[in-house]
Amino acid sequence: MYDDSLLKKGLEELGLDCSDLQLKQLHQYYEMMVEVNRVMNLTAITEYSEVCVKHWLDSLCLVKAVSEGELAKPLNVVDVGTGAGFPGVPLKIFFPQWKITLMDSLGKRVRFLEQVVSELELTDVNCVHGRAEELGRQVNYREQYDLCVSRAVTRMASLTELCLPLVAVGGAMVAYKSAESDEEITEAGKAILAMSGTIERQEKFLVPCSEYGRNLVVVRKKTQTSTKYPRGGGKPMKQPLM
Ligand code: SAM
Repeated sequence: MYDDSLLKKGLEELGLDCSDLQLKQLHQYYEMMVEVNRVMNLTAITEYSEVCVKHWLDSLCLVKAVSEGELAKPLNVVDVGTGAGFPGVPLKIFFPQWKITLMDSLGKRVRFLEQVVSELELTDVNCVHGRAEELGRQVNYREQYDLCVSRAVTRMASLTELCLPLVAVGGAMVAYKSAESDEEITEAGKAILAMSGTIERQEKFLVPCSEYGRNLVVVRKKTQTSTKYPRGGGKPMKQPLM
């Protein structure tokens, strides 16, 4: 029913094996997404091969920025502004040993994700409705995560204030940025410093089976973030630290 040749080629390029269960979970996820997308705005991309490249493979490109040894650990991961589940859900499918929190400020999307988690029988997934800058001030979320991932949410300076307070000291955030993101990354220097982070690595490449340029920015958390951050009331977006 599905032509998975492109997906398999891309996974091979990323060095990822795909079991029958993982393939089945991706197919189920695709079907649910397309179905719900008829009544709720989840994604503009619905053609199967395009979803394979722009959603699944792009999400899984994390392997290019984080070592195999690190990814194999039972990490506690949060995906900030996950939307329809990217990059969090494909990552959970391929790294089932992780505990993952899928966080989004839109309740409808979070309810969709709860259905996905139940249908795909994913375990250790927490779907949370809320704004990252509010949750980042709560003890249950603040400095709890080994890894924070985020794609297409906001510019780097604001994103750092949303994400880094959630990361435990020694952990990291990985921002999925486009290849043309140099300016916003430079601009984010002050925010990264204020959140007690440092850019450890930037990995630029083309997403497998595409011409789409990605830059994965890895920001390591050095010490605890000041309790001044994140600021509430939408300030990380309205008045980014620059
Ligand atoms: N990460 C997904 C992807 O790459 O397809 C979704 C990207 S979508 C453009 C941005 C998402 O971030 C939306 O679902 C929105 O509700 C969520 N969002 C925006 N600001 C947020 C915040 N402060 N805290 C949590 N989620 C937020």
